Formats: sequence, structure tokens, C-alpha cells
Amino acid sequence: MTSLDTLPIPRVPLTSETHEHAWRTESRHPTSDGTVLYVRCGVCGSRRVDLQEHPHTPPVAVSADLGRPRS
Ligand SMILES: [Zn+2]
Repeated sequence: MTSLDTLPIPRVPLTSETHEHAWRTESRHPTSDGTVLYVRCGVCGSRRVDLQEHPHTPPVAVSADLGRPRS
């Protein structure tokens, strides 16, 4: 009989809870609302979409952390 309680090893996925994402801009696309930035974390590979409304303001995240691509 197998029991799931015999191996109390915590599974800790590599998420934003375990490290601070190191976002790198992969591509940028000028739109009427500003520049849309597609960024990816160099640590875990998560992706996010940012919008920079003005060249002199920092970009803000317009999407949630999209997670790592599944393959
Ligand atoms: Zn990350």
C-alpha cells in the first residue's frame, strides 16, 4: 500500500515566491497607448507583458506573470 504521507519533501516550484524575477526585454512594440514590452525572466523563464506609456516613465505590468512555457 502506498501512502503520500511517507515522503514529506516539499515541492518548491521556482516561482516569484522563491526569487525576484530578473525581467529582460525580449521585444518591444510601439502602439498608440505606448510601447508594449515583452519581458522574460532570465532566472525561471517566466514571461510578462509590460506597457511603457512614455519613454521617461518606468514600464508597468499589464499582464500577470504568464509562467514558464510548457513543452
Ligand atoms: Zn523568475
